[in-house]
Amino acid sequence: MHGMISLLKRLFRRGGDSHSTDDHNPIYTRQEHNISRADISESALKVLYRLKSAGFEGYLVGGSVRDLLLGREPKDFDVTTDATPEQVRKLFRNSRIIGRRFKIVHVRFGREIIEVATFRGSNDDARTSEEGMVLSDNVYGTLEEDAWRRDFTVNALYYNIRDFSVVDYTGGMADLNKGMLSLIGEPEQRFREDPVRMLRAVRFAAKLGFRIAPDVEQAIYRLGYLLQEVPAARLFDEMLKLFMSGHAVASFEGLRHYRLFEHMFPATEVCLAHEEAGFPRTFITRAMANTDKRLAEDKPVTPAFLLAALLWEPLRQLAEENIADGEPAYQAFHAAADVVLSQQVKHISIPRRFSVMMREMWIMQTRLPRRQGKRAFALLSHDRFRAAYDFLLLRAESGEVNAELGEWWTRFQQVDESEQRVMVRALESDGSGHSKKRRRRRSSPRNRRADG
Ligand code: ATP
Ligand code: MG
Repeated sequence: MHGMISLLKRLFRRGGDSHSTDDHNPIYTRQEHNISRADISESALKVLYRLKSAGFEGYLVGGSVRDLLLGREPKDFDVTTDATPEQVRKLFRNSRIIGRRFKIVHVRFGREIIEVATFRGSNDDARTSEEGMVLSDNVYGTLEEDAWRRDFTVNALYYNIRDFSVVDYTGGMADLNKGMLSLIGEPEQRFREDPVRMLRAVRFAAKLGFRIAPDVEQAIYRLGYLLQEVPAARLFDEMLKLFMSGHAVASFEGLRHYRLFEHMFPATEVCLAHEEAGFPRTFITRAMANTDKRLAEDKPVTPAFLLAALLWEPLRQLAEENIADGEPAYQAFHAAADVVLSQQVKHISIPRRFSVMMREMWIMQTRLPRRQGKRAFALLSHDRFRAAYDFLLLRAESGEVNAELGEWWTRFQQVDESEQRVMVRALESDGSGHSKKRRRRRSSPRNRRADG
């Protein structure tokens, strides 16, 4: 009898396949969770209701459900459905189908875009590369199949518009309560399929303050090198999410802790590994703290600033070598920038508009000490002055340059023009400000080469 019941149970278990966890109830009714429709964007609700009235299933999924359950404000709202992209497209005038391999629909409401994806099937038959990386997975599937192919259990929770319940096939609710990031399935296999999931682990840990499950941690330590296979453009997108979402410091610490950083910024890692006085680590974390703070205050930020900071130490060291070889500072920095940038974009692509900005900020660092005559005034009206000045302040705070230089520029921006002229003249009389070209070239031993 008993055997019979367990057999029946197994047969009737939802989806009934080998993945399902025993005794795990996948449905949390509307009374059993804290998601309220008032916290869901109106656009997302419109999409869900329209799908429902057209006879389709409609669920909120991914980061939005996770964040709502945690009482945080979701960044965006993703919807999943059994309707095909073509069917979704027909339901919404303001929509378009995007993606070639796996089609999804973008429904636009003013500035907000709701992404609607059709349930995706398991990728058992997907083509994979030699390392196991998934090259194509574009089959539609059921809700449960859709859940099992997601990355972390906490990202595989669904909010059902039909009865306002939360559907949890993978144990995401328990992990959410524990503050734990567990991968769905076998970590090594999931990371081989898509190494970017390692970066996502670090990102979510930083953002949510969650712990990474021990088996996931171990797999990251073993497989970090797989990041080398990820296209540079995708790493750029992922890097933005890590560093430009308000928790850059924690992400940076996490990336270094799990030894992923070295696969993203190898030249910087070399400098960090050999650092003596705490620089450039202090400098980088200050730049990141600065970005986090600006985001928290809703001030504009650019990845160019962070990237310029991340690559500053390798650049500076290379430029110093060029200077030691007799090159003028300006040329030395340009040549070093060529090398550092071309090496870096092999790992993480940097769109031109940002690399142009980075180079300007770097070159400005060589010009900011030279303030005599009309120079200071010219620099002040330069497009990149503000960013370069902020950069200089960070260098000063980290003890790389003399604090007086930063203070001088701070004051220069505060006073009126006649006072500014006084400040410039004062430099001339005390002999600082780099009036004569070679006067204050840094006199490290390397600058005086024995072989001349
Ligand atoms: P965020 O708050 O940063 O938007 P998110 O969890 O919504 O976090 P997205 O990158 O927007 O992350 O992805 C949405 C959902 O798609 C995820 O929650 C996850 O379920 C699924 N997903 C995204 N990337 C992957 C991946 N590489 N592998 C498996 N599932 C993924
Ligand atoms: Mg999201």
